[in-house]
Amino acid sequence: MLNPTLPEAPRDRGIFCNRTLNLRSVRAIGYDMDYTLVDYRVDAFEHMVYAQARERLAAEGWPVDGLEFDAQMVTRGLVIDTELGNLVKADRFGFVKRAMHGTRMLGYAEQREAYAQVLVDLNDPRWVFLNTLFSLSEGCLYAQAVDLLDRRALPRVFEYGSLYRHVRAGVDAQHIEGHLKAEIAAAPDRYVVQDPETAMALLDQKIAGKKLLLITNSEWTFTSKMMTHAFDRHLPEGMTWRQLFEVVIVSARKPTFFTERGPFFEVVDEEGLLRPVTGPLRSGGIYLGGCASQVERDLGVSGDEILYVGDHMFGDVHVSKRTLSWRTALVLREMEAEVTALEAFRPTELRLLSLMENKRVLEARLSQARLALQRLHAGYGPAPDTRVPMVEAGVQDLRTQLLALDAVIGPLAQVGTELTNPRWGLLTRAGNDKSHLTRQIERYADIYTSRVSNFLLATPFAYFRSPRGILPHDPGDHLAAYTVAP
Ligand code: IMP
Ligand code: MG
Repeated sequence: MLNPTLPEAPRDRGIFCNRTLNLRSVRAIGYDMDYTLVDYRVDAFEHMVYAQARERLAAEGWPVDGLEFDAQMVTRGLVIDTELGNLVKADRFGFVKRAMHGTRMLGYAEQREAYAQVLVDLNDPRWVFLNTLFSLSEGCLYAQAVDLLDRRALPRVFEYGSLYRHVRAGVDAQHIEGHLKAEIAAAPDRYVVQDPETAMALLDQKIAGKKLLLITNSEWTFTSKMMTHAFDRHLPEGMTWRQLFEVVIVSARKPTFFTERGPFFEVVDEEGLLRPVTGPLRSGGIYLGGCASQVERDLGVSGDEILYVGDHMFGDVHVSKRTLSWRTALVLREMEAEVTALEAFRPTELRLLSLMENKRVLEARLSQARLALQRLHAGYGPAPDTRVPMVEAGVQDLRTQLLALDAVIGPLAQVGTELTNPRWGLLTRAGNDKSHLTRQIERYADIYTSRVSNFLLATPFAYFRSPRGILPHDPGDHLAAYTVAP
């Protein structure tokens, strides 16, 4: 007899579904490594990238003394406006809802002036989307560099666009030059979060018959060190991470891995010696470069038989979905704080919804009273059963009531806009609407979750069903939106 009490994932560890996904019909699961299978301490990791990039700028004569990494200054999903030196948060349509120039938040009037006529369009190189937690150091350093530029404190001439490219190149170099990776490999405990359940979740999937793939942009030596550190101690005696994977692909150059036909090389020893690949990929092999189309061909799986799990909104999820129609899962580490904050705010939110219902009724009555007044003054329409002074008094009374109500709603709604981050609020929302990040998640990620180990409770046999979409004309009481008056 089965135990009737099923283990349930706490809500913040849930797997959230945009498009129904039956894991039973998935034959291969590809995993990204950094910030997906291997979870880093964001503060430590991004602080180090930031500090090294800052040193590079200091060596060029930039007055960066006293500048520090602030993990709260920017969040994933914000967009850099390289034309105006701003960071902005946009809603699902691309309307800018909040903006920061350098490190200073713009007031309502300034923001309107800059963006009333402008829509964020990620196809335009003016805008740079912060796709992953790796983007936080870059966003923070750019905001601080804009302050320096505005103070004319930089040793050479920049515009906001060239300034962005310079900061970007500095951060990029840290990832490429190897000090960063050497430092992490030397002290992995400082940077890597151990999660024993990830190893078990993958082992369950493998033994359930899924072909597991590792597809990472990291190079072989770093991959090998990180995977050993994060997995081997949590696997059964004598087993290593390598045995989990059908194929391991390093230096994959995503997103071009998904779109172009680059050649594979085989990694033939621990030091990373390479040999060109002539035949098909073999089971247990370690490869470098390559392309997704050969993976599909050699493994005999394609399209919706493959689930790819990654943390980079564009490079892992958007492109694999758009180009190959793979099933996709986005790992969004921030979901745990997001869900917890939403649950804690729920009682206030219910109160706000009921206050908004009062407001709706008062506003409807005010509109009716104003119309009655208009008709009385202009002398048209059905004969009124009241006189002008009485209607005027009624209008005044309703206006007073509405002002009093707004004074209650305003501060409560303000709290709602500051959840998880006082500057930017929730990742998934922009004002009352979905954020630009959420729009991309719902378009390209079939499911999303805070970490890979959330698959453990779900099991390899899970059937994820998307909720029925809510539309403005649906019956129910979900319709009121609350706003903070500008
Ligand atoms: P993945 O997430 O496993 O595909 O690996 C991401 C790799 O990209 C890591 O090796 C990171 O160090 C590297 N990376 C992250 N951001 C940048 C960047 O801005 N420039 C170059 N490499 C980066
Ligand atoms: Mg990654």
